[in-house]
Amino acid sequence: MIHALLIASLIATPTNTAASNQPPIQFINPNLKHAPQHVPPFFQHNINKLKTCNPQLARLVITISLLVPLRVVECHRNKADQNKAYKQKKSKAPWPHSKHNQTPSLAVDIVPARFGYRSVAAFYMLADLMKSIGAANNMKIIWGGDWKMRDYSHFEIWVQKI
Ligand SMILES: [Zn+2]
Repeated sequence: MIHALLIASLIATPTNTAASNQPPIQFINPNLKHAPQHVPPFFQHNINKLKTCNPQLARLVITISLLVPLRVVECHRNKADQNKAYKQKKSKAPWPHSKHNQTPSLAVDIVPARFGYRSVAAFYMLADLMKSIGAANNMKIIWGGDWKMRDYSHFEIWVQKI
């Protein structure tokens, strides 16, 4: 945890602690004049998937993927895919109750590229990074690995229920 926070502090732009409601930190400068000529296919795959994801959550995933190589499995899930995932017990909610069903998606499924689903320890490390760097950017991240029905690859943005 301390290690993750240290990394978070290295990545996060220094903020003025007096101003509590400032805009979220831009992990990737959208005004880059010199866009990279070549985006590795692996990274491009993640970007394509993340296009259906909440931009703040997408930026968090991209930032962490620079520390821990990640593969984005899924962001938005349509009605057919959600109900299929529910039937196969891959999801605990039928359409439209999963955070994957929002547009843009408030949930993302990611796996450490080196280990896939094989290492629970790698998921714990990833969850530590997601939670701490998320918190450093005013985002409370809920991890599926903390649920009774473990869903290690699942991360979502906490939203207050009204
Ligand atoms: Zn999920």
